[in-house]
Amino acid sequence: MTQFKNLINGEWVAGERCAINVNPSDASDVIGEFAQASAAQTQDAIAAARSAFPAWSQSTPQQRFDLLDQVGTAILARKGELGKLLAREEGKTLAEAIGEVGRAGQIFKFFAGEALRIGGEIVPSVRPGLTVEITREPIGVVGLITPWNFPIAIPAWKIAPALAHGNCVVIKPAELVPGSVWELANVIADAGAPPGVINLVMGRGSIVGETLVQSADVDAISFTGSVATGQAIAAKCVATNKKFQLEMGGKNPMVVLDDADLDVAVDACINGSFYSTGQRCTASSRLIVTAGIHDRFVETMQARMRRLKVGNALDPSTQIGPVVDATQLAQDERYIDIARSEGGSVFGGQRLMAATDGFFLAPALVTETTPAMTINRDEVFGPVASVIKVADYEEALAIANDSRFGLSAGICTTSLKFASHFKRHAQVGMVMINAATAGVDYHVPFGGRKGSSYGPREQGSHAREFYTAVKTTYIAPGSA
Ligand code: NDP
Repeated sequence: MTQFKNLINGEWVAGERCAINVNPSDASDVIGEFAQASAAQTQDAIAAARSAFPAWSQSTPQQRFDLLDQVGTAILARKGELGKLLAREEGKTLAEAIGEVGRAGQIFKFFAGEALRIGGEIVPSVRPGLTVEITREPIGVVGLITPWNFPIAIPAWKIAPALAHGNCVVIKPAELVPGSVWELANVIADAGAPPGVINLVMGRGSIVGETLVQSADVDAISFTGSVATGQAIAAKCVATNKKFQLEMGGKNPMVVLDDADLDVAVDACINGSFYSTGQRCTASSRLIVTAGIHDRFVETMQARMRRLKVGNALDPSTQIGPVVDATQLAQDERYIDIARSEGGSVFGGQRLMAATDGFFLAPALVTETTPAMTINRDEVFGPVASVIKVADYEEALAIANDSRFGLSAGICTTSLKFASHFKRHAQVGMVMINAATAGVDYHVPFGGRKGSSYGPREQGSHAREFYTAVKTTYIAPGSA
């Protein structure tokens, strides 16, 4: 079996133990044996990043551009191969997985450009003669902790800005999907990143993640994952005086008004709720539908759902791949059972058998729900959406905002008045008009409000808010 090691100070290092990575579409397909780092090895990776920081933080924008641009080119050239690996380890369909790899490549290209765009400001002082300069500097060693649902895009959108802005990185991917990040780290090392600039430590959150978060030598943590883990990390970052950024869950509403184009609305909801097996933090999980279109909407959704092909992620005809693992499958089924027991009517949601032994689940649509039901409060993180029938736009908006989360929200309508009002009043970080709540661009800010996010936005030029420290310098006359 192929063995994959950790990358520490430019060397591939065996772990304290190993874990196997198994394809959720096919239990007989083992992707490889991945090293699991100990706490001491994680400390070694942090020390390597710390040693590499003085030189890397002084590297020229051209050096950083060249590295990131080369990484982007290499990823894009291997899109098909890396996409297949991603589909095998996470269960996205091959088309979705190749799309995600392509996005990772574009992210590196974008942040290559950002390395050249680091500027500053010069402003006159309010005091006579003085000049004030506002500049940005790298923050130091950055610990990156990533979830399983975007095995290469999320690591890419954290690593690329970290390196572009002159920081050194220690990344810990989710245990379920180490393969894509291993390939990414390999590409970055091959492209000539100096030893210690990028370190990969695979293994458990409770050991590797915890060591990163507790270390006095880590200056900042960027985390994406669940609310519970994020909040625990936040408390520890405050205690150890670290900068931190959290992207957590969502319970994203999609409002469908009477005046919506039904086909547009159903397309957006099928995509937003069920593609990528609903395992997207931006998935549309609450479909809030006005009474005049409700019955036609539900009927058309169900007709479309009957035709969705669930199966092995590598089969080109598959539209929805498997759930990521047995634990997540049990969670999806538990929430479907709770929805039923609280009075919801469930369409779909049954286990499916296929030619291979995988975690296949038919997409589920829960109708006859009320906003207070568990299915409308908790994030399921699977191919499960609920429908809430409302009287009008005002009720829809109130329900859309009635959530502890605030990541993404959508509205399907042909009315500019309602679309504009929703854009301004949805309490979220991202609004989609006549488009699915999931599926975002790589060159603009990503993030949410309320319980979904904490700290500066990720992606686009806004990423510099997290990955740099601002310095204000006062220069007296005659200093030159
Ligand atoms: P988890 O919070 O369980 O894990 C996220 C990462 O944190 C993993 O790498 C995990 O390691 C690590 N971790 C676990 N415990 C600790 C700890 N004590 N200290 C430090 N690190 C730790 O989330 P999942 O991976 O299960 O991802 C699914 C969740 O992520 C969903 O709730 C989803 O909504 C959210 N998410 C949010 C996104 C957003 O941008 N808003 C995007 C994607 C997902 P391990 O490998 O051991 O699990």
